[in-house]
Amino acid sequence: MIGGRGSAARWLPFDLYHRGGPNPTIGGQNSRRAFTPSAAPDIKLLDPARGEPLANIGYIQVVRHCNHFCGFCSNPTSPYTHDYESMKVLVDDFADRDYFGVILTGGEPTLHPELPRITEYARERGLHVRMITNGHRLADERFAEEMASAGLQLVHVSVYSVKADVEEKLRGMPDTLDRAFRAIENAHRFGVDININCVINRLNASHLDEGIAYWIEHHPYIRHFVWNNLDPSMGRAEVNQRVYTPRLADFEVSLTRALRLLHESGRTFRVEKVPLCYMTEFGWASTETRKIVKMEERIVHFLDDKQTVRQTYWGHLYSDACTVCSLRPICGGLFDRGGGYDTDELYPVFLPLKDIVLGVITDQESDPSLAARSFEEWEAEFAAYNPATVERTAEDGPPREEGAPSVGQITEKGRKLFAAKRNSDGRRAERLGVQLAAEETDASE
Ligand code: SF4
Repeated sequence: MIGGRGSAARWLPFDLYHRGGPNPTIGGQNSRRAFTPSAAPDIKLLDPARGEPLANIGYIQVVRHCNHFCGFCSNPTSPYTHDYESMKVLVDDFADRDYFGVILTGGEPTLHPELPRITEYARERGLHVRMITNGHRLADERFAEEMASAGLQLVHVSVYSVKADVEEKLRGMPDTLDRAFRAIENAHRFGVDININCVINRLNASHLDEGIAYWIEHHPYIRHFVWNNLDPSMGRAEVNQRVYTPRLADFEVSLTRALRLLHESGRTFRVEKVPLCYMTEFGWASTETRKIVKMEERIVHFLDDKQTVRQTYWGHLYSDACTVCSLRPICGGLFDRGGGYDTDELYPVFLPLKDIVLGVITDQESDPSLAARSFEEWEAEFAAYNPATVERTAEDGPPREEGAPSVGQITEKGRKLFAAKRNSDGRRAERLGVQLAAEETDASE
């Protein structure tokens, strides 16, 4: 464990913060108007321009196994499997909820034999279809063409470092970088938009900006980048914290340089699980802040015992420093359910909150789901909003969605696949010096 939870740290669910804690304001330091969310029941926010629900996007884990072996994988193999029919039910669920789109993820989603078919069905149901992949199979031209023909619109290719030796170490196998480059070229050739996803970790923290310089020079058509600070709370990430979990200060400079390069070159980006005090210059790009400001929800159909969770609360861990911070009402805090970070690294910011809010609500170019509105209109909506999960603590994690269809099933085939994968992963873990998560070694499964 790095640092661990300091004694000053405490979870402050949004409502408790406002009921029992200090009296923060919205509108920045100069505003004296107290922020007091009403006790109204869950409000389904409508996009005022379209009279339709805001553009929510759902996730389906279509498989849980993977052809790479990342030492910080937070979703390792489970015995649950999906067939076409069980995925179809989940696609229907999103369509019935008027979701804008679906993200097919894993494990490595391209390992599911019915991926092109479910992509086609999701498009038929009117969903925008995206996929998060390591690019290994998409490097095969025929498969890339098949996915494009099925209707895949956007692919998030995960690349952690453009230094081949670092990428190999993080992926647990050789040649992954070359395949990711080929996957990107294939997607571009067949008209699928490309985003690059990067998990910030201890091994790449020092050179995030070098990666961006590379992408801009060699793949200028990639216009959007997503950063995710490592979640040290689950799977192998939890048991290998010492190797992979960075300190926030490890990446602050290189992340800022990377974001500046992207911003100056007209590209867009999002940053997840990084507290605003480590990205004040680009606070509007924080995923949590955007979700808080936009009052969004997200549903994830996990292919494991968690099943379906619905998330409407985007705050994580806060410290005493946060109670005097002007950005507290729109900051996601420190994502640290696994105790891998240190709240002593947080420091209060005294910048106007309004500028960041405006950066989000006026960003219709990169986020067409947003309706035009003034800061004052947003302020009134925000004060009235009461997400359904507000009574939960952030420590509980997102709540299971009651009444959602069951996600996947444990079949004999799934058990055999899980057992085989567990054996091969065990051998790989030993060879690479990576610890496996408890659920990967539990003989009772
Ligand atoms: S001090 Fe707390 S509220 Fe302020 S930016 Fe940092 S994590 Fe967010």
